[in-house]
Amino acid sequence: MVEANSAGRVDAAYDAVVVGAGIGGLYMVYKLREMGLSVLGIEAGDNVGGVWYWNRYPGARCDLMTVDYCYTFSPEVDAEWSWSEQFAAQPEILEYINFVADRHELRKDYLFGTRVERAAYDEARQVWQFDTDTGKVFEASYAVMATGPLSVPKVPEFVANGSFKGELYYSGRWPKEPVSYEGKRVGVVGVGSTGIQIVPVVAQEAKELTVFQRTPSFTMPMRNHAYTPEYQAQIKRHLPAMRASARNSPLGGVRPSSTRPYFSVPPEQRISLMEDAWKNGGHTFLGTFSDLLQNEEANEEVAEFVRGKIGEVVNDPETAETLKPRGYPIFARRACLDTHYYEAFNLPHVRLVDCFREPIHTLTDNGIKVGDREIELDMLILATGYDGLTGALMAFDVVGRGGETVNQRWSGGAHSHLGLMMKDFPNLFMICGPNGPSALANIFTINEQNVNWIADAISHMRSHGLTAMEPTGEAEQGWMDLVAGLAEGTLVSKAKTWYTGTNIAGKSRGLTMYTGGFKAYREACEEAASQDYPGIAFERAGVPETTA
Ligand code: NAP
Repeated sequence: MVEANSAGRVDAAYDAVVVGAGIGGLYMVYKLREMGLSVLGIEAGDNVGGVWYWNRYPGARCDLMTVDYCYTFSPEVDAEWSWSEQFAAQPEILEYINFVADRHELRKDYLFGTRVERAAYDEARQVWQFDTDTGKVFEASYAVMATGPLSVPKVPEFVANGSFKGELYYSGRWPKEPVSYEGKRVGVVGVGSTGIQIVPVVAQEAKELTVFQRTPSFTMPMRNHAYTPEYQAQIKRHLPAMRASARNSPLGGVRPSSTRPYFSVPPEQRISLMEDAWKNGGHTFLGTFSDLLQNEEANEEVAEFVRGKIGEVVNDPETAETLKPRGYPIFARRACLDTHYYEAFNLPHVRLVDCFREPIHTLTDNGIKVGDREIELDMLILATGYDGLTGALMAFDVVGRGGETVNQRWSGGAHSHLGLMMKDFPNLFMICGPNGPSALANIFTINEQNVNWIADAISHMRSHGLTAMEPTGEAEQGWMDLVAGLAEGTLVSKAKTWYTGTNIAGKSRGLTMYTGGFKAYREACEEAASQDYPGIAFERAGVPETTA
């Protein structure tokens, strides 16, 4: 039962409430509105953009190509928007998302600056009740959680151990006001996809830059370039074909890929293919061989090639050695693309601290204590990542049947059917949920596919007079068995990452993302819908439906 709020009132009731105004949430609001449903979007930030709203850190840029890091649902947006470069920077991506929101008047259905504190299912009335931090309470038949896989920043343990009097920033909560590094002693903790973007930009202005690295990343040159008007026009002409290709690809995007196993070509040719890919930049390197996430020996040879490149760029041999990743397969952590990351370490005022040798103990008034020394800083930037995949839905109470919360349900790891729905949480849908391809494919492609599936499922219910749907325990277990089986066949589980939950103390370990590729995932979802949702239990006015 839903507990009455203090005032015992509901401020407004809708067909659907969508939590989040990021890429998925915005399209969900659009789609439900097009279907004629009443819908309320609730967003903690004061505007649209989701991850691109919060991540305004220096150097923030998408390392997926703009040609497919965008929506496909709107011919108007396709016609009126052109990207300026191959890999867009955060301001342009945020501008794009705002452009889409304006073009389709999406903001009018949103309540901004409002955080959902509790979402609970009232079994008797078959409605979800949303309690918010403004005291307002809303109800809806359908709850869509578009809360994002990367929306809860990780707070490292050392932050709690001390205080710092200088400027302290989290990459994922970057202020809107400009931040100056000029003349300052800046520290950056973390060298994942975010840290490697921050370092070269801050290095240009700071008086001193200290990079605190624990696990080094493998990063490859992005070699970004601007688009000419002719190329932009060409992209528009080829959009339908590119999108068909993206939908049928494992990564949900038009990236280079190969069917050529590493050892199927002679050694000299392997090297020359890697050299070409390195020169080309972008994702070419990633798409040079087909089996790098399956064949450990091949993976190690490619990793060694990249280590060699680091050695070629970085002048100081000790720094170069520290920057060379070892002990995990290349691409098992997210592949990074950088712009002059390794070159930054050749600057005289940039130094690297190896946090395996000198772990960070605590913050001090004037800096940070590592090993047995204190490094004085004026500014500390934490690029320490996120409580990924599950963090957002476990950060507040999402209460299903019998008063069970998602937090309780996922204490042993995320569990769902198709990454979209959970047993005992009727009519609650997740966009980009933790058991779908999530971080392993293009977020725009997954989000649109998820939204379309959810919209079809809701249409199915409404056209059949059904009032609720949720997966059966068998269907959910079947999906999780498939996810676990696929995970065994990939090297992705062999690294300590946010993919496997190992970055957060106390979090359940294991790769729970679907690693079968976007195309296979999409087909599994489509099959479920086209066969009238096997494995889904429906209700009609609270009564279980046996023949939906
Ligand atoms: P991340 O990959 O989880 O990296 C966090 C970094 O912080 C790691 O280097 C980690 O070291 C370090 N760290 C954490 N606690 C530490 C401690 N106590 N001491 C020293 N180092 C510590 O996070 P991220 O870089 O923010 O990237 C997260 C995801 O965001 C990416 O995988 C990607 O999906 C997304 N992203 C995408 C783009 C894009 O271009 N589209 C750009 C940025 C981010 P350990 O690894 O040793 O724990």
